[in-house]
Amino acid sequence: MPELPPIDTVHLINFLVELLNTPSPTGFASAGIACVERALAASSAVPALTLAHTRKGALVAGWSGQKDDHPRALTAHVDTLGAMVKEIKPNGRLKLTQVGGYPWNTIEGEGCTVFTSGGKTVRGSILLAKASSHVYGAQVGETKRDGESLEVRLDACTTNPGETRALGIEVGDFVAFDPRVEVTENFIRSRHLDDKAGVACLFSAVKTLLDAGLQPVQKTFLLISNYEEVGHGAAAGIPPEVTELVAVDMAAVGEGQNSDEFHATLCVKDSGGPYHHGLSQSLRKLAEAAGIPYKVDIYPYYGSDGEAFWRAGGDVALALIGPGVDASHNYERTHLEALLATTRWIVAYLLSESLEGSL
Ligand SMILES: [Zn+2]
Repeated sequence: MPELPPIDTVHLINFLVELLNTPSPTGFASAGIACVERALAASSAVPALTLAHTRKGALVAGWSGQKDDHPRALTAHVDTLGAMVKEIKPNGRLKLTQVGGYPWNTIEGEGCTVFTSGGKTVRGSILLAKASSHVYGAQVGETKRDGESLEVRLDACTTNPGETRALGIEVGDFVAFDPRVEVTENFIRSRHLDDKAGVACLFSAVKTLLDAGLQPVQKTFLLISNYEEVGHGAAAGIPPEVTELVAVDMAAVGEGQNSDEFHATLCVKDSGGPYHHGLSQSLRKLAEAAGIPYKVDIYPYYGSDGEAFWRAGGDVALALIGPGVDASHNYERTHLEALLATTRWIVAYLLSESLEGSL
């Protein structure tokens, strides 16, 4: 395999940080979609990609290749975990309903923004209703964290539902958690690396080819999906002509896992069962030929947007790759090495001949 073109590392991190700081909980992800769209539109002087939206609000980019006999697609999701206002409590504070799956204790103490239907934002924080140790003593440590025991304390003068409604807040308003982004020693720490790290790798791979004046070998579609965290992101939006789909999403790091924060991972099985063996094998060969640091792993509690497409009837060879992310659906962290490995893997894939022979 020829040398892969160089990746603009600074641009990759800057784009990731910008995307992480753009609130986009599932159902309210349009700002995240717009951020990616702006970046893609600005990535080349002459527009190389055609950009369109699905009716559901996802972004689909089409990119002509040297050939179009085996069109490909890659997908990553820009939506994140979040919440909505479930109730306005008698004390004027808010009860939440979860958007996406996460343990309630992982959001305790977090700052948050409430987006009112009138377009205003109100800041607040998520705390136990009985939060003060000086008042509630041992209860603070012993209380089970759930939608009943946690509440949003708004940074506004309100002590009753009427005053809260006067702020423009109502049941159904979206709530975004602070991403708490920090980049230190090439570690990137933030709440929403799942899957903004994957989106950044995908975008960086596109930019790498464009900067080098290259075109993908096959006609390629990119789907930036907006409903992954609730299970149906990429169920629609992949054109029917596509023969191979590579989902780019975080690798699960923890005890018993092969994945780590310094490699890209090929996931061969998760809660949805095995991925496509032939395409997975081809990606392994590509990684080995290009010297990309990678792991192969199985994720015990995990489903991907690729599987959403399979379940919706999509007839493609499907594989899943992505950067290792520590403490996923919690306060997440990854390392630049994992982002670069994933980006280079995508670049190698875009520049590879049809893998069909090995399917
Ligand atoms: Zn994800």
